[in-house]
Amino acid sequence: MTTRITAVPRVVTMPAPAGEIAVPFADCHITADAQAAALRVLQSGWVTTGREAVAFEAEFATAVGATHAVAVSSCTQGIELALRSLGLPPGSLVLSSTMTFCGAVHAIVHAGLQPVLVDVDPATGMPTPATVRTAAQAYGRPAAMVVVHWAGDVADVPALAEAAGVPLDRVVVDAAHALGTYAGVVPVGSGCGATCFSFYATKNLPLGEGGMITTDDDARADWLRRARLHGMTADAWRRYLPGGSWRYNVADAGLKANMTDVQAAMGRAQLAHFPAWQRRRAQIAARYDEQLAGLPGVRLPHRPAPGDGTHAWHLYPVRLRLNGGGDRDKVIAALSERAIGTSVHFVPVHRLAYFSQAALIPSTGLTGADALFDQLLSLPMYPRLTDAQVDAVCRAVTGIAHRGISGKGTE
Ligand SMILES: *Cc1c(COP(=O)(O)O)cnc(C)c1O
Repeated sequence: MTTRITAVPRVVTMPAPAGEIAVPFADCHITADAQAAALRVLQSGWVTTGREAVAFEAEFATAVGATHAVAVSSCTQGIELALRSLGLPPGSLVLSSTMTFCGAVHAIVHAGLQPVLVDVDPATGMPTPATVRTAAQAYGRPAAMVVVHWAGDVADVPALAEAAGVPLDRVVVDAAHALGTYAGVVPVGSGCGATCFSFYATKNLPLGEGGMITTDDDARADWLRRARLHGMTADAWRRYLPGGSWRYNVADAGLKANMTDVQAAMGRAQLAHFPAWQRRRAQIAARYDEQLAGLPGVRLPHRPAPGDGTHAWHLYPVRLRLNGGGDRDKVIAALSERAIGTSVHFVPVHRLAYFSQAALIPSTGLTGADALFDQLLSLPMYPRLTDAQVDAVCRAVTGIAHRGISGKGTE
């Protein structure tokens, strides 16, 4: 059984025209062995957090070079827990890029903290030390910062932390796009306070839903383990294991954010495929690069300079500068007519109604993100994309770049 997502988010692709191949935007590949692992757990009589979660945590920690990994229900809950683990006074200021997923900023709000949005460099889609400094000076000293490795590219976490005046152990890395990203030769997952990964259906290690927090801090790992499950003491958590006691205490206002063993068993099976999937993503990126390089009005995604690290290619976001910003939506429609799915990552958080009120925005505005937003277009990027599908996307984009956009029959 295979789950295929053809419309993420809300980009409906048409049936492919005669002679063309459909290219859905996203693909959630649950391998046969992951399906078998899920079934094994379902038949075992123990389906919630238990042995599989413990094993997945250990294997995941090894994969990203972290001391501890704590399995949770989502990356969003992971970020909230990581922020709560800092024990900051309510309303403390937390910096976040505005070019991120809303969930990352909801996590700041739900942790009782005050988001301050940071502008991005349109060339990278990520904050720079200068934009961080501007945000850090706008409302007073920030207590913490969330840093996103946007699209799977490499953010310079130490430089951004220094610009914010925030110690590294108060940086929460949003690695929802960055399983497989390396900063230099070091995989994202260690070296700061906590790093949060997502196993959402479209992410590089898809489980449908789920997340992981990694940290090198023993005390913090213990706190996170309890806090993800009602704040119940470690004894209580271990009562799930053979020989465990029924007794427990509650030390904190915990969340209900644990991962089931069904997800964890799938995660272990999927993780074995991950290196091959990442190699395929890099091949696809290279194939796009080769065919799209130099097209008028199309800019290839930013990637780390040689030696600076490795892109995880979660997304392949091109920047379109055809004839004014409005044309991006016409490109989306023209591609959709050819059964090619695309998406936009992201609507800047400050342009979403709730956050335009709830988040603090530097008075100079977030002009880099505004300029970039109108140009962004994410092309399909997943390991099962065939070369023929990549070529079909490139043919369509090339036709649009050379001949402009007029919908059906332009090519
Ligand atoms: C997907 C995503 C999240 C949220 O992940 P969930 O596991 O769905 O909570 C957070 N940040 C970014 C940048 C994302 O793309």
